[in-house]
Amino acid sequence: MSSRLTRTQLLAGGRLAERGPARRAASARAVVLLKQPPPFRLASRESHPDATVVRAGGVSIGTGRLVMMAGPCSVESRQQIREAARRVKAAGADMLRGGAYKPRTSPYDFQGLGRKALAWLAEASQESGLPVVTEVVSPEDVDLVAEHADLLQVGARNMQNYALLRRLATAPKPVLLKRGPSATIQEWLLAAEYLLSGGNLQVVLCERGIRTFETAMRNTLDLAGVALVKSLSHLPVVVDPSHGTGKRALVAPASRAAAAVGADGLLIEVHPCPECALSDGEQSLDPAEFAALMRTLRPQALAARA
Ligand code: PEP
Ligand code: MN
Repeated sequence: MSSRLTRTQLLAGGRLAERGPARRAASARAVVLLKQPPPFRLASRESHPDATVVRAGGVSIGTGRLVMMAGPCSVESRQQIREAARRVKAAGADMLRGGAYKPRTSPYDFQGLGRKALAWLAEASQESGLPVVTEVVSPEDVDLVAEHADLLQVGARNMQNYALLRRLATAPKPVLLKRGPSATIQEWLLAAEYLLSGGNLQVVLCERGIRTFETAMRNTLDLAGVALVKSLSHLPVVVDPSHGTGKRALVAPASRAAAAVGADGLLIEVHPCPECALSDGEQSLDPAEFAALMRTLRPQALAARA
């Protein structure tokens, strides 16, 4: 029995007739099922076999080269973000991260400095030559953030904020779409579909850990999911090992693992003084730790693709 017939039988619910017209009809139904496109039509490899390359302020994401995005969780002061930009640039980063608008679980936690922080980010970007990735949390801020940033981040909590996704679909800048903490891979790709179907084809996916029964780490970093998404979709996938683990000591091993499974880039929290950070200090590297990680990553990232 051919393997196609075995799949056919399975899809026909095991009720396949042995021979004759009933068998042909069941087989035809099964072939229709086999050929059904995935629901994430535009994001799927079937619709677009070649890998998409996203261009953010002169940096290409999805070429096979590991793109390093680094900087503090939050922009806290002009001096802090300038110092962070200088240090991550010296270590070899490609892009600068830093949150001006912070979606925090508690309303009592630091919420970001908004407009002022965007101006400091733009200045740090100019000085360092690093393009900026920063989060936008609401549709009415999209224009302002797009004026200051090269890559617009949708945070994990906003992955299914459809008003925001629809607005970003018409934004003039590429989007980094984080996976929601409880989102399946299909939900994540369907969220990307809102951007693609609305006209923004420049989309980068970001795995940042999901919520599981495990409480020893902040999240469970789904690295097998990264390899799976790379096969299901043509979009580039980057990994955030900082939120994915919540622990500074795990950032380097998780980064190396992400590179090994084929991630297109890494988004890493680096703070000039992690102990002084207003958010996520416990998962932030200091500049020296980041520089050490960079030295181990590039050769491995290249080897993973050999
Ligand atoms: C962040 O990148 O600082 C952030 C808030 O991430 P996430 O949306 O993945 O929690
Ligand atoms: Mn953070």
